Amino acid sequence: MSAYETIIGLEIHVQLLTETKIFCACRNQFEAETSTNTCPVCLGMPGSLPVLNKKAVELACRFILAVGGDINTTSVFARKNYFYPDLPKGYQISQHELPLGKSGTIRVETDDGTSGVKLQGIHLEEDAGKSFHLEDSSNIDFNRCGTPLLEIVTMPVIKSAHEAYLFLNRIRQIVQYLEISSGDMEKGALRCDANVSVRPEGQHEYGIRTEVKNLNSIRYVEKALSYEVNRQINLLEQGGFVVQETRLWDENNNRTVTMRTKEESPDYRYFPEPDLPPMKLDNEWLEEIRDAIPELPHQKIDRFVREYSIPQYDAAVLTSTVNLADYFEQTAKLCKNPKQVSNWIMTEVMKTMKDEKSDPEDLKVSPKNLAGLINNIENGTISGKIAKEIFAEMAFTGKESDEIIAARGLQQITDKKVIEQAIKQVLSENPANLKRYFDGQEKLFGYFVGQVMKKTEGKASPHLVNQILKDKLDGRKA
Ligand SMILES: [Zn+2]
Repeated sequence: MSAYETIIGLEIHVQLLTETKIFCACRNQFEAETSTNTCPVCLGMPGSLPVLNKKAVELACRFILAVGGDINTTSVFARKNYFYPDLPKGYQISQHELPLGKSGTIRVETDDGTSGVKLQGIHLEEDAGKSFHLEDSSNIDFNRCGTPLLEIVTMPVIKSAHEAYLFLNRIRQIVQYLEISSGDMEKGALRCDANVSVRPEGQHEYGIRTEVKNLNSIRYVEKALSYEVNRQINLLEQGGFVVQETRLWDENNNRTVTMRTKEESPDYRYFPEPDLPPMKLDNEWLEEIRDAIPELPHQKIDRFVREYSIPQYDAAVLTSTVNLADYFEQTAKLCKNPKQVSNWIMTEVMKTMKDEKSDPEDLKVSPKNLAGLINNIENGTISGKIAKEIFAEMAFTGKESDEIIAARGLQQITDKKVIEQAIKQVLSENPANLKRYFDGQEKLFGYFVGQVMKKTEGKASPHLVNQILKDKLDGRKA
């Protein structure tokens, strides 16, 4: 098989977290009872007039500035005309010739370093209603009509299905960090369509592309796009050709299927929205928005690597949400060993969160208590093994580790005389193994350590057991 180059461009829609809709005062809450959050404006009644929601503009600008994009201080809303049952006006208010923003770059950490995905355009528009189908009827819920949407379009620069997945994941993180959207793909707050094409390596012209829709879960994105890439390569390899069309991801059969073949791109007959004047933004206001932008995921990753000397992999896991990152930092500030904190969070803490389906702030183990537990290990009060037991009790009761250690008598045994006594007993109970050890089976050292730990109910300091046992055996050998 010859080598092919994959080219993917993504078009992403983000629902903005405003109180009210983008052009009317209806609540921006489409999970309410069907079509109850509606008014003449979002139902497209003749004679009703849209009024722009300033908060939606602010949230959109926050995103554009955060990703280093340029804002057009004068932009224009346009009517995008098309007919669809969930669009009562017969057009969608969007932006076309003079959109709110352009350019900007999103950094993603790939397996071989980092890549910067360049953005083409970023604009504001309104969402349509949502159709749903019951056994004997088709219905439309107009609650979603007029929900503010941010449309983000990338340049065709994404080189693999995996990179597309990483990019989408990063977009989700950024909108959550910026508190402009829930980023919840399963609920439709973040939606993604992809343009996919392949070309033989070295060819200059782009291959014919297909558009893949219905990527409504972050888990499907990589699967669907790699299926589509392979489908196109197989077609070309067999001497066939790719047809320009729109395809849907069929999650039940794990493949993309034809939705409609598109001879030419549809003509939306855009024209400037006559009911809304051009949107003019004040530079001072934009500076205020810029000043309030929080630290972004990639900046946090770099800072964690720098300040806490943890691997980039750890930093990426720990910064997956702002709350988890805060939990790590609060704990690490109370410990001398940030890598231990990272290990504990990536194993026991995240496992508990998964089991309880909880967020870091709901955990019964506070950062202070986790730090206390880790410090108990670091200063030799308890072994790492017993610490896991203690953690389980902390997660259940919310108690501090010191309290549990004292109540259950779990302090590590560091009294050398007690450990020597246990070693002596173990060696005298195992004369045959001892002989094998001296005959050269040095692996039995671990067996003796295990027996000593068993005898002390796991409480002897493993470090001291190893040291004293080694001295003792070396002494006997000599
Ligand atoms: Zn309304």
